[in-house]
Amino acid sequence: MTGVPGDTIAALASGAGRAGVAVVRISGPRVPAVAEALIGGLPRPRQARVCAFVDADGLAIDRGVALYFASPASFTGEHVLELQGHGSPVLVDMLLARLLELGVRLAEPGEFSRRAFLNDKLSLDQAEAIADTIEAGSSAAARAAMRSLEGVFSREIDTLVEALIALRVYTEGAIDFPDEDDVDFLGDGEIERHLTAIRQRLADLRSQAVQGASLREGLRLVILGSPNVGKSSLLNRLARRDTAIVTDIAGTTRDVLHEQLSIDGLPLTLVDTAGLRETDDPIEAEGVRRAKAEIQHADRVLLVIDDRHGLGRDEQAVLTEIDARCPVTVIANKIDLSGGEAGLRAGFDGDWIGVCATTGAGFDALAAHLKQAAGLNADTPPAFVARRRHLDALARAAKALETGHERLVVDAAGELLAEELRLAQHALGEITGTFTSDDLLGAIFSSFCIGK
Ligand code: GDP
Repeated sequence: MTGVPGDTIAALASGAGRAGVAVVRISGPRVPAVAEALIGGLPRPRQARVCAFVDADGLAIDRGVALYFASPASFTGEHVLELQGHGSPVLVDMLLARLLELGVRLAEPGEFSRRAFLNDKLSLDQAEAIADTIEAGSSAAARAAMRSLEGVFSREIDTLVEALIALRVYTEGAIDFPDEDDVDFLGDGEIERHLTAIRQRLADLRSQAVQGASLREGLRLVILGSPNVGKSSLLNRLARRDTAIVTDIAGTTRDVLHEQLSIDGLPLTLVDTAGLRETDDPIEAEGVRRAKAEIQHADRVLLVIDDRHGLGRDEQAVLTEIDARCPVTVIANKIDLSGGEAGLRAGFDGDWIGVCATTGAGFDALAAHLKQAAGLNADTPPAFVARRRHLDALARAAKALETGHERLVVDAAGELLAEELRLAQHALGEITGTFTSDDLLGAIFSSFCIGK
């Protein structure tokens, strides 16, 4: 990101295009001088003032409401002036041009939120939650993002970090004074007890974060199954349009197709693959290789079978191949021909759903099942929204604590445990932004829209 943090920035904060009202936001040390030139002086903080916004000749560009938030009690922590004028793109351009004359520059994407973060107004995950609130694809996602913004996630992280710091202090003490008063600090079970409690708390937080992430990013589903069982028909019915080629010739879907869709606001990426049949055809064989590669990145596999035939040798092989790497839902298709039951089937090993891709029978149950898998069920909505970046940091913290535990119980090596505790604390700090690189901040805030 270019630009000096101490300069003054402005941007249209409301949506682009014609509207009833347009909000232009200005933040930085030049705000008092800008207010003097543009509206004849600063309004009293937090009190709306109706006034003209004037050009260099004193002529009104627009007339509207001005709101002033004095530093540090503002969104960015700097002086902030908000001008609510008429929602005309032409007037907004004229107003922004006037601001440039007054020594203000246009804000870059996410720059207001970045300043709020740098001035300790928000933690990094809270700043991300602003973007997630605006971009939420469902009411459940919006509510979860709101809870993140209110600091639910940060507080959980902070509590864990505090517990880790306390344990680091205790462990380092045990290293420095190993046999104080004949007490074996490392071996008396106290450190292990605390470590286990922290690991449990982290595991709970991770499972909530996984749900929070699927709420935001949706599920990535890979459709697998033998040729002709109805994979493309299933995809088309879910997508309600014809992107995959549906024919009667086995092995038609040769490439990997990606389809983005949403079920009641839950974003889904559906990956349609070639069948997993062993084949001599080199093109189809490449498709099979890609199908296997896709499973690595999937949240769930939809294994489609012909309900008349049940799980065959090929399908059993697929299940063995996937093993425990990814949850699987078996979609028993063509129930119109098998006479099988529609919807979720009880008494099967794993999740089974009977459907008919031609009539749509069983698809409501499939939709409900996918929402459940993504944590969208109303009973226990995710407590906050999370990103892959957060999941990655939580996973690294968990790994460090696991290694630390081994160092403690297997090697009784206090120094090595202390180092793993430090790594875990560092990983958690990346989530809230206690430890972050400039590159990461640039990557996060540049994905925001301008004016945020
Ligand atoms: P894929 O090779 O697994 O992608 O299978 P397709 O989606 O191309 O379907 C193969 C054939 O089965 C096509 O003729 C479909 O119309 C047919 N088909 C798919 N689903 C059903 C179903 O639920 N019932 C019936 N009767 N035919 C189906």
